[in-house]
Amino acid sequence: MIALEGKVVVITGASSGIGAATAKALVEAGASVMLAARRADRLDALVAELGEKAAAHVTNVVDKQQVLDLAQAAIKRFGRIDAWVNNAGLMPLSMLEEGKVDEWDRMVDVNIKGVLYGIHAAIGAMLEQGFGDVVNVASIAGHLVFPSGAVYCGTKFAVRAISEGMRHELAGRIRVTIISPGAVATELADHITSSQVKEGLQPVLDVAIPSKAIADAVVYALSQPRDVSINEMIIRPSAQEL
Ligand code: NDP
Repeated sequence: MIALEGKVVVITGASSGIGAATAKALVEAGASVMLAARRADRLDALVAELGEKAAAHVTNVVDKQQVLDLAQAAIKRFGRIDAWVNNAGLMPLSMLEEGKVDEWDRMVDVNIKGVLYGIHAAIGAMLEQGFGDVVNVASIAGHLVFPSGAVYCGTKFAVRAISEGMRHELAGRIRVTIISPGAVATELADHITSSQVKEGLQPVLDVAIPSKAIADAVVYALSQPRDVSINEMIIRPSAQEL
């Protein structure tokens, strides 16, 4: 079944992990994708793999003008935006007393403000055409808080709160879906600079599931009839206890 034939989807954080897998799954489902991230080489390689239905626009989501430019690039290339997946994020977990304030700043900037800039850019395009889907990638860390996750969990709680506010405000016009993954095998944990925290996380990383599990959930949400909205999905490894 080609569930998303002709749809145009913007994906942030598409250069690796969940974003790249989502791009592949969406193209398989018939959609065209505009891929965004900072690493141009990774994006170009993915476009080469996916073919004509994919294009890339190098974007740093902490820069609101770059995110608006991304929306324009998608419209210029594919004519409109049916869905926008706010997926870019980072998770440099650490204990508050380690004082890694620069990492807190980056998490707030990318995980919260980057999502807000994406919402702003997407809403602008979608309200004009009268419909659209916004998918925000939160986390199981948006449902529970654990030591070393105070800031990261804070950003993901914020993504869920913002998404829920958006759902209320735009009901009937723009559908909003929160995707909350558990442990997924990606590059996300590579950026943890606290070695003790990284060691402690290993049992969860050992049971991580492939990014395709999350990508398939995005395709499922976007494939629903217009009057049906998948508000949130939590997708954990079966073996993940936390
Ligand atoms: P990856 O590290 O593999 O991917 C993160 C993506 O975000 C990359 O494509 C990266 O691209 C992009 N990114 C980071 N900073 C920026 C920026 N400033 N501007 C634009 N893009 C940026 O990790 P995942 O695939 O796991 O992460 C995707 C999302 O899933 C994140 O929001 C994460 O919090 C969430 N998540 C992941 C879980 C997991 O276990 N893996 C669990 C729960 C949620 P580039 O560096 O090229 O800019």
